[in-house]
Amino acid sequence: MDNCLFCKIVEGTIPSNKVYEDDRFLVFHDIQPAAPVHVLIIPKKHISSMNEVEMEDFALIGELHKVAQEVAEKLGIAQSGYRLINNCGKDGEQTVHHLHYHLLGGAKLGALVQ
Ligand code: 5GP
Ligand code: ZN
Repeated sequence: MDNCLFCKIVEGTIPSNKVYEDDRFLVFHDIQPAAPVHVLIIPKKHISSMNEVEMEDFALIGELHKVAQEVAEKLGIAQSGYRLINNCGKDGEQTVHHLHYHLLGGAKLGALVQ
């Protein structure tokens, strides 16, 4: 996708600090970490947001959870726990319009919803 920051990170035209990569997913450190561990998990396929996920993509999204599990283990936060977050749209404060999940951990994160 032209002019998509995360597609450029996938292509390698914008550098990133990679944690995991395979043919369908890329995981890299967030440039402005909000927790001791803060990585972004993205499908390489350009999907603008959660709202644009189509039926054919749901298996991919399911597999993304497996990647999250493996990356949490790799980064040493599997046992202490973590949060997997997707921000969607304006009220969700999504700023990059390529589907991504924040994986946060390494400290008590505080409750967002009570
Ligand atoms: P959103 O607010 O859309 O859910 O999350 C976008 C995230 O992308 C933010 O946490 C932001 O810090 C991160 N981000 C924005 N630009 C870059 C970049 O160029 N490189 C990396 N690694 N992260 C970025
Ligand atoms: Zn993209």
